[in-house]
Amino acid sequence: MIHIERLLEPEILVKNKTEWTEKFIKSEKKRPSNSQYGHPKIRETLYCMSFQKCFYCEKDLKGDSKEIDHYIEVAERKDLAFEWNNLYLSCKLCNGKKIANKSIANSSTLNPCEHTDEEIIKHITFDDENITTVSDSEIGRKTIQKYDLNSIEQNYNRRKEHRIFAKYYIKTIEKMIVEDRKEFDKNELEFLNSFKSKDKPYSLMFKVLLSKIANLTN
Ligand SMILES: [Zn+2]
Repeated sequence: MIHIERLLEPEILVKNKTEWTEKFIKSEKKRPSNSQYGHPKIRETLYCMSFQKCFYCEKDLKGDSKEIDHYIEVAERKDLAFEWNNLYLSCKLCNGKKIANKSIANSSTLNPCEHTDEEIIKHITFDDENITTVSDSEIGRKTIQKYDLNSIEQNYNRRKEHRIFAKYYIKTIEKMIVEDRKEFDKNELEFLNSFKSKDKPYSLMFKVLLSKIANLTN
């Protein structure tokens, strides 16, 4: 999870949300129409906002299923069904877990649209690809639980990216030993730091891991 900067509300919502919301509330339907809140323009804006990644786990969603999630569930607040600030983009896994773990209140977890990366890092950290809490942080623990960020699938996905990073890192250290130098060169640094770029999957994990070797990369 990284901080997501919300882009401007798509025109389609500005124009229609009042009417859509009123009709939805009157209809007594349980779910709003996916063709409305999931309109391609809305989907595209959310997709751009998150650099094509899941808001919760940072999985790359290119070529993957993308689900529009109501941060506050529609069952709780029908009036927020078309509220721009309540629409998030999620991978299938996180959305499913979020619904299954709805007893864990949103207010007791980290919110990518509200918390900064610095705030998130105060509660969630990584040991290689393994996600864990910082000093038994309750908000960190509940966030990991709510989206099941420590599941076999999530660990497997992070491990795939981590392997690329670790392989390069080890190869570079070996090269440095052979060449008898103690510092990374410019290209090596650039490549290592590219993993924590916001448009890369699991960038927060790499931000944490790179900070652990900061004495080498700064
Ligand atoms: Zn996800």
